[in-house]
Amino acid sequence: MHLPENPAGERPLADPGRIVPTCADSHVGTIRKSRWACGPRLSEGPLGGKRMKINHRIPLNGNDPFWKYIQLLGLPIDRGNIRYSQTGDGTDLIWVLNVTEDNPVWPKVEHLLAEHRILTQVNNIFTEAEMNSAEWFLVSALGHHGYPQPEDDFGYIDVTYESGSCCPVCRIGKVQVAPFRLRTEPKASHSQFLQLNWVFDELFVRATAREGLISAGITGIKFLAPVLHKRNTPSEQIVQIKIQTILVDALDTTGFQPVTCKSMNEEWRPNKWITPDKESNRPFCGRIKYHSMHRGPYRFAREAFIGVPDLVKSTEWFGSGGGAFRRIIASQRFRQVVTEAKWRGLRFEPIEIINEHT
Ligand SMILES: [Zn+2]
Repeated sequence: MHLPENPAGERPLADPGRIVPTCADSHVGTIRKSRWACGPRLSEGPLGGKRMKINHRIPLNGNDPFWKYIQLLGLPIDRGNIRYSQTGDGTDLIWVLNVTEDNPVWPKVEHLLAEHRILTQVNNIFTEAEMNSAEWFLVSALGHHGYPQPEDDFGYIDVTYESGSCCPVCRIGKVQVAPFRLRTEPKASHSQFLQLNWVFDELFVRATAREGLISAGITGIKFLAPVLHKRNTPSEQIVQIKIQTILVDALDTTGFQPVTCKSMNEEWRPNKWITPDKESNRPFCGRIKYHSMHRGPYRFAREAFIGVPDLVKSTEWFGSGGGAFRRIIASQRFRQVVTEAKWRGLRFEPIEIINEHT
């Protein structure tokens, strides 16, 4: 076992090659061969010829033998002071390596990762020029605050979404019919944009940014105040941004790990709780969602964006296990408004627009 149970306070990683049922936007990636194995097809898209880098973050016990080889390669290791337990003898430090795939020694590191059965946390690093020239972005909040109420047994699903609108197994198809309910007003007063845990396809915004979005004429949105659960009164601090438009089918799913809502699907593993018998009796819907992918940009067809407003959602669903969400997509204009106002709390990741008939 090369990975501590909970490195750097993050969720446990799993063995390489396993399909990992992670939280919706986990950056844990598998070292698996895919179409990205030779690098994303940047040269084919509008980001071609630029300098997006794919970074791998590797947090591991400082005593792991992996580090001996990394030191031989001369890569800089962050020997910070992150601890994963409290033995107090200095043997529990987490060391961290960040290495991008354009590094000349990356092939050797990749080989070592496979040999040592180590997973990495993958993210794309875009240049400012790429950020400024992109037309559309995946958008998510940098911080997730609180849980939708009632949270026991995911009770919020029944009170927030149309009854029977989503599959009870995979949660694809949910249609919101009531305000989200919050335990308390959110903290993080410095962030104008927030998301709740578990709800990765809804953004919440503070009053300053809401007024700014309205006056900038950002299109495709309405606002709905969430409700403070026990008081049963609307939040006075944030409103949900209700995105009105779902794109048509547009995602190039090449390289994505699909998860089908069916018995013994791509994520299924034998265990004592869910036998094949019990599994096959569940009310599967047969629909597909995809694991989030962090290596290379998402690619969408240009046709899907003709005439759409500044904020939209993908028609495709993402997630794993009993979680499903659509991706929020925003225009460059929306990013410019947010950036110029210096509102905090959002992550923008350029998507690649495919001209299908070129
Ligand atoms: Zn389903």
